Amino acid sequence: MENASLKCHPGLICLVFVNNFKMHELSIASALSETVLETGLKGNLVKITRVNIAIGQLAQIVPEIFEFAFRECVRDTIASDAELDIEIINTRLKCRNCLSEFEMPDDSWGCMKCSSTELDIINGKELFVKSIEGEEDGNKNNEEYSRQEPEQG
Ligand SMILES: [Zn+2]
Repeated sequence: MENASLKCHPGLICLVFVNNFKMHELSIASALSETVLETGLKGNLVKITRVNIAIGQLAQIVPEIFEFAFRECVRDTIASDAELDIEIINTRLKCRNCLSEFEMPDDSWGCMKCSSTELDIINGKELFVKSIEGEEDGNKNNEEYSRQEPEQG
């Protein structure tokens, strides 16, 4: 296993560790591939051509490993040839002290305005299927089915 290339801050590692301790790319890919196939079936797709996934910076997913795991999960299904598009969602934080919101700075763990370290994570731990594209039975029109349910923990 490679290490994720995102920078880790001491305050964040604990939070992520607790939430994602037992998660790894394969189990996540397995869960997401079920969502993808289920959505495809509901949409009467005979072939899924593209899968758009959003992964938070803090979800501790290595995209390359995730893609490999996903391919294994969708082998011999209607999604076996689907292109995988992974969007990385930047970490956004909110200061509990002055309530300002900002993207996580590269070099520090603290509020950009007041330097408080009492911060809440707004974005960055989510991981979900944004949408899939594919071919419907009988015609070649591309249809898009959106799904916006962040996967928790
Ligand atoms: Zn602040």
